[in-house]
Amino acid sequence: MSLLVTGIGELVTNDPATGTLHDAALVADGERIAWIGPAAQAPAADDRLDVQGRAVIPGFVDSHAHPVFAGDRAAEFAARMAGEPYTGGGIRTTVAATRAAGDDDLRSGIRRLLTEMRRQGTTTVEMKSGYGLTVADEVRSLRLAAEVTPETTFLGAHVVPAEYAGRPDDYVALVSGPMLEAVTPYARWVDVFCERGAFDGDQARAILTAGAKAGLGLRIHANQLGAGPGVRLAVELGAASADHCTHLSDADVDALAGSDTVATLLPGAEFSTRSPYPDARRLLDAGVTVALATDCNPGSSYTTSMPFCIALAVRDMRMTPAEAVWAATAGGARALRRDDVGVLRVGARADLVVLDAPSHLHLAYRPGVPLISTVLHDGVPQ
Ligand SMILES: [Zn+2]
Repeated sequence: MSLLVTGIGELVTNDPATGTLHDAALVADGERIAWIGPAAQAPAADDRLDVQGRAVIPGFVDSHAHPVFAGDRAAEFAARMAGEPYTGGGIRTTVAATRAAGDDDLRSGIRRLLTEMRRQGTTTVEMKSGYGLTVADEVRSLRLAAEVTPETTFLGAHVVPAEYAGRPDDYVALVSGPMLEAVTPYARWVDVFCERGAFDGDQARAILTAGAKAGLGLRIHANQLGAGPGVRLAVELGAASADHCTHLSDADVDALAGSDTVATLLPGAEFSTRSPYPDARRLLDAGVTVALATDCNPGSSYTTSMPFCIALAVRDMRMTPAEAVWAATAGGARALRRDDVGVLRVGARADLVVLDAPSHLHLAYRPGVPLISTVLHDGVPQ
């Protein structure tokens, strides 16, 4: 089946060869885009969707999310808003709830969040494990995530679980040995929470190096709560993405600028922990590739909304609306080393969002307003 989407007032393609088109149309043939051009020259197709002057952008690529968990931490959020600091210690609360949950509960939680994401325009999502922290629970988390996305990430190194208190190196040996071996069939990526109170630079290096040897791509949680070695380690090891990047030295920024490692910024985390935002302008001006993602998790950023992250990035991180939309689409694709999503060009996946607005500018200009009119995923209206 082919579908002609026509009457597009503004078509943001993210394809440098095409740019942004007006009075445009595109044809999705099955799961792929088959044609893009002026509406007046559009070929015939089996079906037709006239969007009547609305803007169309690529589907959002949420390249950093933790949707495999049970329970919530609303009380912790309320306490934090009343003045308690965020330390990451609440992760263990979610670990206990996740271990206690049945497969069906975890599966329905993942699908509920995926439905929220789709309704807000996300068509590609990365999903991390990291609330199991035993071999069996990490395998289960990734197996369930792999049912809905190919972008699965092993985050056994999220925190040291309570049963390994006082002997973190034994846990690092488990994560980089038997646990890694068991999850590899279900994971595309390996990630480490490299932060004071979680894993230090040497531990992160051991886990990421083992992951690379097992054939997994590398990502890292780095420099979120303070300065640290995470960003430079990511660049040194050729990681696809260094995520958070809130506390960066000039050397960190220079390292990112001279690398293929994307800086993935997660403003939902700073919003929900009432922390200073990363300086996206500094990164962009240095030539760093920037992505935006939700960090969807029950502790520090319980949002599934890429439009919300775009609004924060524009208002509080000095990104232009165009830069923020690019970072939430093409930037996320770069962070996942994908060239078939985050862009609308012939041959790319037919994943796109019709906005209930004439321009992409409205995503930041009208924060909190449901502007997602229609989502096409694999060429199928959702
Ligand atoms: Zn995260």
